[in-house]
Parts: sequence; structure tokens; C-alpha cells
Amino acid sequence: MRKVFLSTVLIFSVFYSVAQTEKTKIGHFVIRYDKDVEAYALSSTHILNFVWEKLDELGFKPPKKIKFNLVKSDRNVLFKDRDKPIITLEYTTLDPSKISQNLVYGLCHEMGHLCMFNITPNKNNWMSIAYREGWANIFGESMTTLLYEKYGLDVWHNPYDYLARLGVYIAMRTQAIESGENIHDMFISDIFWKMLVDEKGLDKIPFFFRQIKSNKVRNPNADKKFRAELVKLNVSSDFLNYFDQNKQIMIRHE
Ligand SMILES: [Zn+2]
Repeated sequence: MRKVFLSTVLIFSVFYSVAQTEKTKIGHFVIRYDKDVEAYALSSTHILNFVWEKLDELGFKPPKKIKFNLVKSDRNVLFKDRDKPIITLEYTTLDPSKISQNLVYGLCHEMGHLCMFNITPNKNNWMSIAYREGWANIFGESMTTLLYEKYGLDVWHNPYDYLARLGVYIAMRTQAIESGENIHDMFISDIFWKMLVDEKGLDKIPFFFRQIKSNKVRNPNADKKFRAELVKLNVSSDFLNYFDQNKQIMIRHE
């Protein structure tokens, strides 16, 4: 019995890896995907390459080669590898009418993480989760908007208005901030990054990240060192006040 069972497992795994998984390079991405989701893999890679080109234009100097894995799974989740330029999308289905995740925005969001950690790796643990996610949220929103402006609903295989769905999230955030109730840390950090990008422009952010790195913003006193970099950027007093009131949400003390 045991022998029969093992050989069945072996046959299944050989069939699985040989018959279904494709690997190809498009632009700056090496992608792995199952053949039956090829159209989605191509949409995703098109989005990732679009964002890569924007990052390059803005001066982020993104890695020349990034891996992107589409993996059939029992959950729907997108993540970037902790240290390496690898983005993974685990999915149960990629049909936007069947899952709640905003996949176009999600891909842009992960590229936001990638470009931040490509310049300022968080070895000293001073960045809070809200700090990191707030940046990826605002960057992701901005890239999703640019994608829909350029390609409309054709951004995603089987057209879907992910931009409208993003609008609901932004409205919720604005409402939460205005009502002053149940304000989530991430919303506070979203506003921080939104204000910074609105004041200085996305193209100033790579310079800002490089200053953070070269001037060694880290603990102890990461909040003071980070604030000094904001002052050097010549931000408005309103923005500095906002940072002073909320810095403990974004900068961790160790
Ligand atoms: Zn994230």
C-alpha cells in the first residue's frame, strides 16, 4: 500500500511541474505561472513593467531583474520577499469578480515596498509597519491612477475597474480622518506620505530616501534624525506639525 501511495505522489508532482508551470522573461521581470492563468500573468507583468519604468524615470533606480511568481494556493495574498527583489501573488482565482483583493493596486503597492527597501533597508528596525505600509499605499494609489489614465479598463485581463474600488478605500480613509474616530495608524501614515508627495512631488522621494540612508537615520533617536531630514527638504510648517503630532505612529523607538 505504502509503495503505491508514494508512486502516485511522485507521478502527480512530475506532471504538475512539467505540464503546467511556465517561466519566461518580459522586460525586467522573470515570471513563473501556470499555463491556465497566462493572460493574467501577462497583464500583471505589463503592470509591473509600467511601474518599473516610472520608478526609473523618477530616479529610484529599481533592480534590473525582479522575480514575479504567480502561485495557485488556498489563499489570496500578495507579498514582497523580505530582502530579495521577488514579488509573489498567491491566488485561489484571478477573476476580479470572485475575490475582494484589488490586484492592480496590490501589484503597484508591492513595487512601492520594493523601491523603498532597495534604498533604505530597515536593518535598525526604526520604521513602523504603518510607516512602511503608508508609503506603499500612497505609491500604489498613484501608480494605479496613472495606469488607468493610460490604459483604461484594459489594464487587467477581463476588464475590471479596480480604480473605482480604490476610490472607495480613499473615501473611507478621508472619512475616518475627518470624523476623528477609530483612526487606524495606517491611515495616519497614509496622510503623512500623501502630504509629503503632494508638497514635494514623487520625484523628490528617491532623494529623500537616499538622504535617510546616507545620514544614517536609525535608532537611537530615529525620530529626531528623521525630522532633521524633513526640515532639510524644506517642508511646510503644517506638515512638520502633522509629523510632530503623529511621529510615534511612524517611527519606532528601540
Ligand atoms: Zn504592504
